Amino acid sequence: MTKLTDDICFGWLAEEGNPTFWHWCSALEGVPEDRKVYGGCWVAAGTSAHTLVSREPLHLEPSLLWRCCGTHGFVRDGAWIPA
Ligand SMILES: [Zn+2]
Repeated sequence: MTKLTDDICFGWLAEEGNPTFWHWCSALEGVPEDRKVYGGCWVAAGTSAHTLVSREPLHLEPSLLWRCCGTHGFVRDGAWIPA
């Protein structure tokens, strides 16, 4: 697992060519613990619809947008760039 920010990290699952992202979802804050799929507010999302421009450093296009909480940004040169 590689950490991009305090709230966003990614990892490589064996069966996926593109990385899977986890973000700390502010939309889940306040949701009872037993209603959550993962511990805390972490939400997983694949990037199979994205183009993997570079694996190392990580570069994906276009930008990533998680509609659950509106987190939106680019991953370029292995860094998260808020959009
Ligand atoms: Zn979210």
